[in-house]
Amino acid sequence: MNDVLDLRIAHLYAHFLNIYGDRGNILSLTHRALWRGIEVQVESIGLGESIDADRYDIYFIGGGQDKQQETIAADLLRHASTLRAAVDSGAVILSICGGYQLLGHYYRPAEGEELKGISLIDAFTVAGNRRMIGNVIVKRTDGSTLVGFENHSGKTFLGPGLPPLGKVISGNGNNGEDGFEGTHSGTIYGTYLHGSLLPKNPDLADEMISLALARRHGEIKLHPLDDTLELSAHKRALSLPT
Ligand code: GLN
Repeated sequence: MNDVLDLRIAHLYAHFLNIYGDRGNILSLTHRALWRGIEVQVESIGLGESIDADRYDIYFIGGGQDKQQETIAADLLRHASTLRAAVDSGAVILSICGGYQLLGHYYRPAEGEELKGISLIDAFTVAGNRRMIGNVIVKRTDGSTLVGFENHSGKTFLGPGLPPLGKVISGNGNNGEDGFEGTHSGTIYGTYLHGSLLPKNPDLADEMISLALARRHGEIKLHPLDDTLELSAHKRALSLPT
């Protein structure tokens, strides 16, 4: 066990997959840890760079247009076994939209080549004939809600054993057909919720921080923060038109 309580975050393809403010998730994870006296290192992993599977506690991959996904997909494939090993060692992966799609078996865009995913999750994505855009409300199995904003043409379908992140209360979610949004399996999180996701969903941010800290530090009880602002933003988002 490490003595110093610290959190190491890898930001994958920060310059390519970062639309609709997805970098805000890194800021939320970072500050919610720092506010608790936890040291944080955030390191960007770009095209052609290597990943030390033992180093990071959280991996973040954001969303992107088809073009950006094409640019990084082949490079991400190089990391498939490293990311699998990282998850097996307890690392958290948070993937948003385009990044989420590439964690599955493939993403078949409306135009251009099918992009091979890393098959970290049993899911696949095919472009639909409309863009799914707007505010989304999701209910998790514990009854809590998540709020965010979606903008995707891809329809993601989860394999039979892969749990969703939650049920769609309003909006489209994974595919606008089966009523589910995202996926959460162990330390793997995938979602279409931009916004960015975590600032308005502080409990989810803390869930990820706790899971990630446990990897090298064992179970850590996070003391509560004053989430007045975050929860008022969450509440406001619940009343937005969808
Ligand atoms: N390009 C993908 C799609 O349109 C992902 C978009 C995104 O990351 N917001 O489905």
